[in-house]
Amino acid sequence: MKINVLTLFPEMFEPVVGGSILGRAKKKGILDINLINIRDFSQDKHKKADDYPFGGGVGMVMLADPVFRALESISGQGKKALYMSPRGEVLNHEKIRQISKEEELIILCGHYEGIDERILEYWNMEEVSIGDYVLTGGELPAMVLIDSVARLIPEVLAGEESAEEESIYSGLLEYPQYTKPREYRGMMVPEVLFNGNHKLIALWKYEKSLELTRDRRPDLFQRYLKGHGELSKEQLKILKKVESAVEKV
Ligand code: SAM
Repeated sequence: MKINVLTLFPEMFEPVVGGSILGRAKKKGILDINLINIRDFSQDKHKKADDYPFGGGVGMVMLADPVFRALESISGQGKKALYMSPRGEVLNHEKIRQISKEEELIILCGHYEGIDERILEYWNMEEVSIGDYVLTGGELPAMVLIDSVARLIPEVLAGEESAEEESIYSGLLEYPQYTKPREYRGMMVPEVLFNGNHKLIALWKYEKSLELTRDRRPDLFQRYLKGHGELSKEQLKILKKVESAVEKV
């Protein structure tokens, strides 16, 4: 997948796209992140990329021309283009899944008070938000989007099933995790995790996932009750037990 990122601050991306899972995906050639500095396309001798808003108002607005030229440099017409914006649809795993199917993507990061609206209209950009709060710029939201999309591209993670087992993707929140030592400051790791019986361990994890989801995200729990896939006899028994406690919670 190729992701073209248009930003005034490309240096913000370097440590994120160069390291960890994204860096590995880039090295393997699975992910190509093309950072484009919008300022390089400014025709102004001071490389200006923003100006005062028409009609008054506080703050500056990003100019259309440098963004148009940046998009033309990558033949952006017809490509899936997203503008990170608090006005957009809030991201969730369904949206991330859809985006991860694209072969090429354009992500525009706003700054200051936002961008000239004509950019959105002409380039048919979809506005995407990462939540109902406002950040200073679109760079952090773009990194959130890139990281979450990249995890769903086959071969980016060491084992693809690890993405599907995570909270939310499985339809449930993840069970508690433990590592060494077995006892820490008097707190013990649950005994079941040491008995070597993989079936029992899987059932324990399933029960803990159900309980956490029921208690923390009743909306997800109700959705799971309506739409879970095939379950074993033991799983069904656990599900009934956890469900029957809903009223008592
Ligand atoms: N004046 C804009 C408004 O009220 O919608 C907010 C501008 S914000 C200070 C600057 C930039 O940060 C935006 O252009 C956008 O690219 C990015 N941004 C801020 N909050 C965001 C969010 N929740 N999701 C995605 N992008 C966001």
